Amino acid sequence: MAIRVAKAPADERKLSFWHKLYIPPILSGLSYTLRKLFQKKFTVEYPEEPIELGPEFRGRPVLVEENGQERCVACGLCARVCPPFAIHMQAAETDDPKERYPAVFEINMLRCIYCGLCEEVCPEEAIVMSPEYDFVFSSREEAVYTKERLLVPKERLAPRLKWLAKMRNPQFGKYYRFRVTNNIHSVKAREMVRQGQETV
Ligand code: SF4
Ligand code: SF4
Repeated sequence: MAIRVAKAPADERKLSFWHKLYIPPILSGLSYTLRKLFQKKFTVEYPEEPIELGPEFRGRPVLVEENGQERCVACGLCARVCPPFAIHMQAAETDDPKERYPAVFEINMLRCIYCGLCEEVCPEEAIVMSPEYDFVFSSREEAVYTKERLLVPKERLAPRLKWLAKMRNPQFGKYYRFRVTNNIHSVKAREMVRQGQETV
């Protein structure tokens, strides 16, 4: 039986004499490394050096605290939309104008997938994605964040709240004549806009 020897493909790369010596490619690689050494560095020495993240980053979800209390009106939309059922809440009544508040509000950070859907559906901008990304737990119980641990003053969340206002408004404007007040669902925030006050 005849044994066939496969032919080398016609387009096989022909190495020149210098390439066969391997010296020019090595020199070109070294010069590339040398040039990169003196360029601006994009890496950071984490965790010694903190990472600055923009307002579009989705870190752990937090509850917005305003005037010493949560903005949340315990409507339950966030818990309903959360894909991995990470949110647990119990509503209670209050004498405040908002009428309802969450007596219990917990997020299981082991379940949370940082999708941001809770933030998207919240009519009060009461739950937002914070820039916090480095948090650790030593037990499953510790990973369940209670309302006290979730509350963050709105001043600290101002970049994200402003970014949300900026990103949401043009989307709504695509489908009907946009007015800022149309995109403000809470009675309290509408009143603030009417009085010419900032809502974020
Ligand atoms: S970010 Fe997503 S997974 Fe996490 S609590 Fe919100 S809806 Fe649930
Ligand atoms: S959607 Fe907003 S207002 Fe409603 S329960 Fe969740 S955090 Fe509270």
